[in-house]
Amino acid sequence: MGFPKPWPTEWPDPPDYPELPMPPTRPDAPATPPDYEPDDDPGEIQPLPEFRQPFYAVTWAVNHACNLKCTHCYDVVPYSRHDLPTDKALTLIDRLAEAGVTFIAFSGGEAFLRKDLYILMEHCQTHHMRFGARSNGTRITPSTAKRLRELDIAVVGISFDGATPATHDAVRGSGAFAEAVAGLRALRAEGIRAQMEVVLSRQNAHEAELFIEVGEKLGASEVNFSTMAPQGRAKHRMTDMLDYPTWLALTTTLRQVSQQASIPVTPNCALIGACVANIEPHITCDGWITPCYLSSQKLFSVLDTPPHHIKDWLAASRRQFQNVCGREAWIKAGVA
Ligand code: SF4
Repeated sequence: MGFPKPWPTEWPDPPDYPELPMPPTRPDAPATPPDYEPDDDPGEIQPLPEFRQPFYAVTWAVNHACNLKCTHCYDVVPYSRHDLPTDKALTLIDRLAEAGVTFIAFSGGEAFLRKDLYILMEHCQTHHMRFGARSNGTRITPSTAKRLRELDIAVVGISFDGATPATHDAVRGSGAFAEAVAGLRALRAEGIRAQMEVVLSRQNAHEAELFIEVGEKLGASEVNFSTMAPQGRAKHRMTDMLDYPTWLALTTTLRQVSQQASIPVTPNCALIGACVANIEPHITCDGWITPCYLSSQKLFSVLDTPPHHIKDWLAASRRQFQNVCGREAWIKAGVA
């Protein structure tokens, strides 16, 4: 799932993109699980474009509860968690503002299950912070969308794991596709920037171009492509993960198609592009910072850290968390 940002990311110029036909999906193909230990020496840190260098955006899983049970959910951990109560959540926003954060993407679990979510959004406004949200779309009704417009939300990302009900609901449960579409439509009806966030896997690779057609038909603001990483429940679905040939074919095709599409078609870093670990960190529901939303490795607690240390501590350990999501298994030939 991407990271809803107020700016689209670009497809890097590949060294050479051979004309490869779209591969048939082969769910039964064995895939050996690569080791995902952070590299002792991750090699050269890919330079970030100017506008991505400052530390000012975070994702925050404000709750861990969800009304769906997606087969590859990354937000599943082997220990019990407690969401921050409202007073501590408001203090966390104060600390982030002091640390220089100006954009928060509220996520979850399912963020719209958190009862005080609007209170947190209003509190961001007291610090002139912009905010967005990531959602499975099932809880976004016309009245929710109206409230979000009044709150001047910057962007909402709706997760799509299929461009058809059959493929999407196979991952998210019966009826989830129709509800996600209704949620996206409600947001667009209020003029809110709403993007489709697609997690590519071997189960839906054959629908890659269809996602763009659906996005254009629905009037989505953008289609952002990410990919499945071995986090959470996805660890038990290794055969669904992309391998290098599939990744190369998909990114080749999507980059080409993006140039003709009537809406922005963009990649998330887990799929391709510069790694922003520790530049766009993630905050867990209990207030811990991790390198990014696709890593559950706790670095330090926001509420127990002086705000002026947050940025420096992240910068200091940035190198060791490059590609911590495990993407080398699909973006590098011969790794997996
Ligand atoms: S490790 Fe880097 S490339 Fe992978 S999802 Fe996190 S920020 Fe993106």
